[in-house]
Amino acid sequence: MPYKKFEEYNMQVTDDVKDRYKNIIEDLGEDTTRDGLLKTPERAAKAMQFLTQGYNQDPVEILKSAMFKESYNEMVIVKDIELYSLCEHHILPFFGKVHIAYIPNGQIVGLSKLPRIVDVFSRRLQVQERLTEQILDCINDTLKPQGVAVVIEAAHMCMMMRGVQKQNSTTTTSGFRGQFEKIETRNEFLKLIGK
Ligand SMILES: [Zn+2]
Repeated sequence: MPYKKFEEYNMQVTDDVKDRYKNIIEDLGEDTTRDGLLKTPERAAKAMQFLTQGYNQDPVEILKSAMFKESYNEMVIVKDIELYSLCEHHILPFFGKVHIAYIPNGQIVGLSKLPRIVDVFSRRLQVQERLTEQILDCINDTLKPQGVAVVIEAAHMCMMMRGVQKQNSTTTTSGFRGQFEKIETRNEFLKLIGK
């Protein structure tokens, strides 16, 4: 077998969370002994561990593992990075797209590392505003580019399924550092991502 992917869960955490999910499901009026729900507490416990695995990952290390000296000093854009996160107020998903740009300052980073750090920060309990800043600061402080820009467009289940029940609204957040604080550079980036 040339490739095999393993999933590992902390058994103690899985057991604890499983027992609590069982109580929650019962408190909500369900019967946890019926067929379809028998293994649900364990599955939910594992799903939540997967969706919050970012707490155990170091985004700075991920970036540092693939930084290379290069003289290229034009804008680098990775757009339409898929985002899946959990809102920290309701523990409901929000999802959408992240667009990242940076202008190198003697160093570039492996392109796949940018989606990786999006995953690290989004697999935590989050608010979209802080997520935007964390991605921005991580790239700015680690790669030290001439500038960095992050735009996130996301739909929030807590708005769509409950609360104001607005199904078609998206929330946009953005942050800019260095060269992107200049209006021309920022506009060039926004044009290139189709905004
Ligand atoms: Zn929410």
